[in-house]
Amino acid sequence: MSDNKRTGRGMFGKGYYIALVLCAAAIGITGYLYYRNTDAEDVQVSATQADTAVQAVSPTKEQDVAVIATKPTQSEQTVPATQPPAPQGALKTTAPVAGETVIGYSMEALSYNQTTRDWRVHNGMDVAAEAGTKVVAAADGTVDSIFEDPQLGTTVVIAHSGGYTTQYSSLDKELKVSVGDSVTMGQQIGVVGQSAMVETTLGPHLHFRVLCRGEDMDPAEFLKLG
Ligand SMILES: [Zn+2]
Repeated sequence: MSDNKRTGRGMFGKGYYIALVLCAAAIGITGYLYYRNTDAEDVQVSATQADTAVQAVSPTKEQDVAVIATKPTQSEQTVPATQPPAPQGALKTTAPVAGETVIGYSMEALSYNQTTRDWRVHNGMDVAAEAGTKVVAAADGTVDSIFEDPQLGTTVVIAHSGGYTTQYSSLDKELKVSVGDSVTMGQQIGVVGQSAMVETTLGPHLHFRVLCRGEDMDPAEFLKLG
């Protein structure tokens, strides 16, 4: 028993030391290459895999080398670091209804609700439009659910790639889609109604809400995906 244990440990130990030696060798080679490069007058190293060019700017000996990563030039998508969770693939978006945004998204600051006469957050954007104005899917997706929200009225929920969900509320009851339908960007799902009980003073409008992986986000930002 104990012999086996020792043997097992011994073998593991050997592998460990081999790994250590390999690491040390890798560090040595990297270091060697680094010094060779910094000795050169104009250094330009191309990374073959990542499509990024590494450029040494004013390479004087023993000075730090500035590294500039250029943007990928080909079909790769770049997403600024400041954006919310990066969805993979390009999801195209379009405005769900033509009209003026009368109340914007406001989850941090309370805004006064004329109908309920109190201050509350607003998880979507309200776009005013005549009753009967066409409402379309803001992006390709699948109709996830349709329900009567006691506060926001007739609501259609569409799931999209990249973890996005869009919700269209205050619609007229007569809808053009059913649960499970695949929809394409710009396809009509219904028309503007006045079914949002908590927003009746706004008149006919669309209450448009967007979630990214279950978290509310500003629909205006979603529509910027273009
Ligand atoms: Zn609203």
